Amino acid sequence: MITRKLTIIAQDPSVKKSDGKILTAQIEIPYEELSPGPRGYRLNIVDYDSTQKVFYKPYSIKNNTDEFENQSDSTLLNSPEFHAQNVYVIIMRLLTKFEFAFGRRVPWGSNIHQLNICPHAFADANAYYSDYDNGIFFGYFANNTGKTIYTCLSHDIIVHEATHALLDGIRKTYIVPSYPDQEGFHEGFADSIAILSVFGLKEVVKILLGDGSESDNHIRKDKLTSTQLKKNVLLGLAEEFGSEISEHSVESLRRAVLRKPSRNALKDPLNQESHLRGEILSAAILNSFIEVWIKRLKSWLPEIDHKVLIDRVVEDASDAADHLLKMCIRALDYCPVVDITFNEFLTSLLTADFELLIDDGKYKYREILLEEFGRWGIEPINYNPQQTKNKNPNEVGTWNKISTNESIDYEQIHKASLEDDQNEAFKFLWQNRKVLELYEDAFTQIISLRTSIRVAPDGFVLNETVCEYKQTIEVEAKSLSNINIKILKPNGMKDTDIIKMHGGGVLIFDEFGKLKYHIATRIDDPDHQNLRINYLFNTTKDTAKGRYGFTDGMGRGKKFSNSIFDVDKNNKQKDEWNIQETEEVTQ
Ligand SMILES: [Zn+2]
Repeated sequence: MITRKLTIIAQDPSVKKSDGKILTAQIEIPYEELSPGPRGYRLNIVDYDSTQKVFYKPYSIKNNTDEFENQSDSTLLNSPEFHAQNVYVIIMRLLTKFEFAFGRRVPWGSNIHQLNICPHAFADANAYYSDYDNGIFFGYFANNTGKTIYTCLSHDIIVHEATHALLDGIRKTYIVPSYPDQEGFHEGFADSIAILSVFGLKEVVKILLGDGSESDNHIRKDKLTSTQLKKNVLLGLAEEFGSEISEHSVESLRRAVLRKPSRNALKDPLNQESHLRGEILSAAILNSFIEVWIKRLKSWLPEIDHKVLIDRVVEDASDAADHLLKMCIRALDYCPVVDITFNEFLTSLLTADFELLIDDGKYKYREILLEEFGRWGIEPINYNPQQTKNKNPNEVGTWNKISTNESIDYEQIHKASLEDDQNEAFKFLWQNRKVLELYEDAFTQIISLRTSIRVAPDGFVLNETVCEYKQTIEVEAKSLSNINIKILKPNGMKDTDIIKMHGGGVLIFDEFGKLKYHIATRIDDPDHQNLRINYLFNTTKDTAKGRYGFTDGMGRGKKFSNSIFDVDKNNKQKDEWNIQETEEVTQ
């Protein structure tokens, strides 16, 4: 692959080196001949400011030059051209990571090829992804001293919003109204990807772990404790924005890794808000990362030295983050199609990794994830620690495989067609509707069919075809009793109100076209449907959203608005945070 290197701001303008300069990095991304914008095969930077009603001149990135290498901080801060380059490069890097992890092209949620990115979209302390408007919109605002803060210069905000767009492309159904886990999943997943992806920038990690300069090649061992690492700027999200809206001078917008775990946290009404709920997911993922990192450090750190070589510390962090990042991305293929829960995501994480690496390896990523999610009361589906003794320890917590005893009918199913023809996939689904326990009276539809080629670190190649199908039933509340599912109309709901219910599943086929997994959310599961209907009815009946959020269109366009900046509730919660004292790595 031909690549090019271009300069970005590595974290955001508030994160500086010891010489006082903004921390930047040169990033390698795929080379493409760009039109002015820049406008490439997947991104179109449109620099329109809807507040000022001005168009900035589209920026042309010259073929083999990085115009912003070694430029002054004030040029980076004040050049709209650099801002355009910054968002283009950071989002392309993220897209490349997703495509590499999946072994295939990844669509945007908007279902257009070139996602619109507006680096100076409006004057407001906000940024959001909108599938309806086919783009990501970054705001800017003046702080107390009159200085302009640009959200398009924050690595974490850019990656967070772009992850929403990618996740929306992989699971379009996750913007359909559901119970709190689903929205929380979007937020927590986006935060985790934003933080883990920074660790791939080794030079940046070295500077932020060390003394802030490029020259010191050593790090004190007492900086490598779990507590110290969690406080590092690398583990926080959106430092500049957090500082501007906080009374403290250096404050990340979110630092989930410091939240105190509780097995009852998900039941707390406070944690129904999507960002607070998302923090629980990212706390589990990021604490797993710290644990793996420390496990790796312990394997080689000398007992007596006070200082150790920083390059090896950075290498360990980068490898651990990269592995977890790929696990998180690959897990999406194994996630249910509708109404995802954190328990289901954990199950998918473990399954995706097991499929590629049967053995959990010496750093025990899956064992650590089980433990860290467990601290928040999140366990895999059908998980029973007592029964796992009979199971292959490597398979603990994974989805159940299709048993060879199940009578799946492959009659007249052509393997080659199954990889790219949705009608062939539907034929398979329909002729197996009994054994797969589909609800026959629902509207049933294949919504995606994708093949992937994944390469494990040991060179093992895994070929899979992933097929998503969805089932839908739409009824008036008064007719609920006419369908063959025991659903109760919530008290106070009008007879004429429309209720839309969803179910569906993922079919994972192996390289021979044989069904390996069926990860289903049954539409005729009364527990599931009653929980969702009651939650949506009770949380939206008094709001302008109307129709209780049961229609697919609800929330389109502004779904992820306020996504980064909805912070008041977070600050309330922060008072209750404390740092977990954990074993010191150097002891
Ligand atoms: Zn968000």
